[in-house]
Amino acid sequence: MPLSDITARIAAAETAAGRAPGSVRLIAVSKKQPEDRITAVLDKGHRIFGENRVQEAQGRWPALKERYDGIELHLIGPLQTNKARAAMELVDAIHSVDRPKLARTIARLAQDMGTCPDIFLQVNTGEEPQKAGILPSEADDFIAECRSLELPVKGLMCIPPVEEEPSLHFALLAKIAARNDLTGLSMGMSSDFERAIAQGATHVRVGSAIFGERPPAA
Ligand SMILES: *Cc1c(COP(=O)(O)O)cnc(C)c1O
Repeated sequence: MPLSDITARIAAAETAAGRAPGSVRLIAVSKKQPEDRITAVLDKGHRIFGENRVQEAQGRWPALKERYDGIELHLIGPLQTNKARAAMELVDAIHSVDRPKLARTIARLAQDMGTCPDIFLQVNTGEEPQKAGILPSEADDFIAECRSLELPVKGLMCIPPVEEEPSLHFALLAKIAARNDLTGLSMGMSSDFERAIAQGATHVRVGSAIFGERPPAA
């Protein structure tokens, strides 16, 4: 689907939800996509991209940042503590801070580096054992801990269980954010970004709807 269709759908969803035009940022998720599809989107003027692996982002984005001005990169996938510095050197936001150990590592590195990407805390709203994220019942404490570490916490992120109605999870995430005075909500993907916007998403992470299906791993 062309980028312009997605941005039109986002604008329509903002209006339908009574939200200000432009209140939702579109993160184009470029993971595993061939580079020509990414440069096509860059050539249309889009500048906000998401990757879920540090190594893949390192392989691709330094060169693209040389060629295109104003790129804003978001890490949306799991982050190991030993890759935290590399991630912080490359990206503008990390959406997947999901445990105290990682938060402490990032805080220490931020002291050292004198700068820190925007931080989103990942909440496992479906309480799925295999999924990353802090449990909803532990979210308030985790948010407080990250704030005491002076991390620039901008909001919360979730990935709803595939087989459940995502709106319930988006609403839960919005509720946890509201009671903690957090305004950022990173939620909504190709199949459900309009429902996420209805529940207050400020950042939608859309991959395949923009770029097409990701090619199978070689
Ligand atoms: C891959 C991915 C997306 C985008 O998924 P699509 O269904 O292709 O839109 C969004 N968020 C995260 C965390 C992802 O890993």
